[in-house]
Amino acid sequence: MQFDTVLIGGGLAGLACGIRLAERGQRCAIVSAGQSALHFSSGSLDLLGKLPDGTVVNHPLQALGALAQQAPDHPYSVMGSAAVTQLASESEQLMQRCDVPLFGHSEENHLRLTPLGMRRSTWLSPLDVPVTSLQGPIPWEQVAVIGIEGFLDFHPQLVAGSLQKAGVTASSHSLMLPALDRLRTNPSEFRAVNIARVLDLPAHREALIEELKRLSVGAQTIILPACLGLDSSQTLDDLRKQIPASIFLLPTLPPSLLGMRLYQQLRRRFQQLGGMFMPGDKALRAAIENHRVTHLYSHNHGDIPLVAKNYVLASGSFFSNGLIARFDQIIEPVFGLDIDAPSHHAQWTAPELFAPQPYLKFGVKTDRHLRAIREGNPLENLYAIGAVLGGYDPLREGCGAGVSLVSALFAAQQIAGFTEAAA
Ligand SMILES: Cc1cc2nc3c(=O)[nH]c(=O)nc-3n(C[C@H](O)[C@H](O)[C@H](O)COP(=O)(O)OP(=O)(O)OC[C@H]3O[C@@H](n4cnc5c(N)ncnc54)[C@H](O)[C@@H]3O)c2cc1C
Repeated sequence: MQFDTVLIGGGLAGLACGIRLAERGQRCAIVSAGQSALHFSSGSLDLLGKLPDGTVVNHPLQALGALAQQAPDHPYSVMGSAAVTQLASESEQLMQRCDVPLFGHSEENHLRLTPLGMRRSTWLSPLDVPVTSLQGPIPWEQVAVIGIEGFLDFHPQLVAGSLQKAGVTASSHSLMLPALDRLRTNPSEFRAVNIARVLDLPAHREALIEELKRLSVGAQTIILPACLGLDSSQTLDDLRKQIPASIFLLPTLPPSLLGMRLYQQLRRRFQQLGGMFMPGDKALRAAIENHRVTHLYSHNHGDIPLVAKNYVLASGSFFSNGLIARFDQIIEPVFGLDIDAPSHHAQWTAPELFAPQPYLKFGVKTDRHLRAIREGNPLENLYAIGAVLGGYDPLREGCGAGVSLVSALFAAQQIAGFTEAAA
């Protein structure tokens, strides 16, 4: 099977890179083994929230110089501040083309309300999520936080309690709908996505509206767990027409409906552009000659190789099995790439639970074009992007989605540029 580019991994990075290349007319395929970090994410996208020394970052683009000094191996430092500035803005435009409306801008972070009712800095947030500017008081008044009776992945009391501590008048409630009774009897099935499948049914709309009206008497703002609108915004649109208060959604424990919605929109855009998405297939090994990948072999395609001019590794970190920890070695399992990590496993973790964990910074080595390095040499047509890259701590630095998006568009630019130059 012949392509211009084959991408390994259908998470945020692989999809964004595939979309950009397909928009430029490339014939692309994405091989994707399973769920990605998006399925577990808040749905908000972080660009840069803190420097490695702990300094809080409000204006991510202005902090790139300090980041380069503190962390020269950070993917942003490798790509350079001019490229990151340009590609962060292009990422925002790409999301719009994917029909993903988001609040925020790379010039300045904003605050989103978390499932614990605290506020956390981020770059882009779904429009349904309650957000505030960095300065100034919380703008919501008379807030009714409404959970779902028996649903353990969202606690309205916690959210209302935190809001009260911040000086907001807030109350907590639980919604009871007979339509959810059958799901409720099986706690392992009583999850956000399954609840949304029930609540999104038009047959249940009227009862849902009546129950929300009953619980939110006198409220100006309603906050619900993100258990609505799996495939479209129709349910929320209908609620907003019928209920006078402003209505917002908060992410729940995974699986995350807000993250899944983002995944679905990106995948839809990739496929609409003619991209081939191969879900449930796993890249296993590659043939490499003269520092070039010539063939990629996957589980489902057996001996039939996927052949492309360029390959992109977007297989994620340990969470997605893009990196694997053996007793004495960290490996990248498909190509056997060089890994930036200490050789002794005692140095992989910090003993204190809440201390920065060294392993979060491990990843494959690349050159400055993000071409992956194997046995000390860059492979000319293999690019590494997203969470499989090393040199950064997405949790501590609040930069996970930003690195994935910016590196995805950077690699697309390298590939398209080199392809055009070679043509
Ligand atoms: C649980 C969790 C929650 C997060 N939440 C947020 C958040 O709210 N906001 C934020 O900014 N960042 C968040 N992050 C950081 C996150 O790393 C990035 O935001 C980003 O989503 C990572 O995307 P990725 O495409 O690089 O990797 P991933 O999302 O990990 O995707 C990698 C994909 O590659 C596939 N794959 C792996 N190996 C193979 C193979 N051999 N063949 C084929 N496919 C393969 C995997 O199945 C997976 O689908 C979170 C991370 C985690 C782990």
